[in-house]
Amino acid sequence: MARVEAYRLIVVARAGGACEYCRLLEAATGVTFHIEHIVPQMHGGKTLLDNLALSCPGCNLAKGDRVSAKDRRGRDQPLFNPRAVQSWLLGWHLHFILDRENGLISARSPTGEATIGALRMNDANRLFARRLQIQAGLIA
Ligand SMILES: [Zn+2]
Repeated sequence: MARVEAYRLIVVARAGGACEYCRLLEAATGVTFHIEHIVPQMHGGKTLLDNLALSCPGCNLAKGDRVSAKDRRGRDQPLFNPRAVQSWLLGWHLHFILDRENGLISARSPTGEATIGALRMNDANRLFARRLQIQAGLIA
């Protein structure tokens, strides 16, 4: 655990302080975000910068040890990997759309569908917080 925490400053800076799944900003939530293994250690994931992401507790706890989930058609899809594209936010936009009017995140891809469902990215608490952060101009 200490080893993961050693990467915290770099992981937070790289993510711009945002959950790399649901976009919530750590500084505006009042909770400490998790440094998560994108590929969980139980699946052989290493504690290396390329396998770490900043995740809010809601996304990380919902994701658990999964690396895939079902899309709307019931097919297994890999979950979103924030490290797949050099800029996680660019990669994020390949799989998701943020509706700035209502705060909802919708999918652009089967991976987006599976990830939104598995991580419950639009659950009531995160949606409420995301709306507030959008209204405050914190989520660009
Ligand atoms: Zn999140």
